[in-house]
Amino acid sequence: MEFTSKAYFDFIGEGRIMGSRCRACGDESLPPRLVCKECGSVDLEWEEFEGKGEVRAFSVINIPLSRMDGRSPYAVGVMRLDDGPSISGLILDVKEEGELSVGSRVEAEYVKEGEKTALCFRLVP
Ligand SMILES: [Zn+2]
Repeated sequence: MEFTSKAYFDFIGEGRIMGSRCRACGDESLPPRLVCKECGSVDLEWEEFEGKGEVRAFSVINIPLSRMDGRSPYAVGVMRLDDGPSISGLILDVKEEGELSVGSRVEAEYVKEGEKTALCFRLVP
């Protein structure tokens, strides 16, 4: 299957995090890429990642984008997956900066928004 954003989001809809892995140098990308960002190879394969990781950076947003109306404050972060690359996303049910820190454990949660599914994260103890 081609490395398109549609394919990526179709997998998210199935509750699977699929990225690309370069057969030449082993570099992993999320979302998947057509060309390896490290070595330029186009010899890539799909790789599935488990949705567990830790927060590497985050911000709590008090003034929301309009589509986020009713959800503010909310947190966005960059999560480093245990078995893969980093990916950004919403961290659910966080209202204050004090609830989060770099290194907080998170796991993936798939949130339906109409016909789409968004990859979000939730804090785990
Ligand atoms: Zn490569």
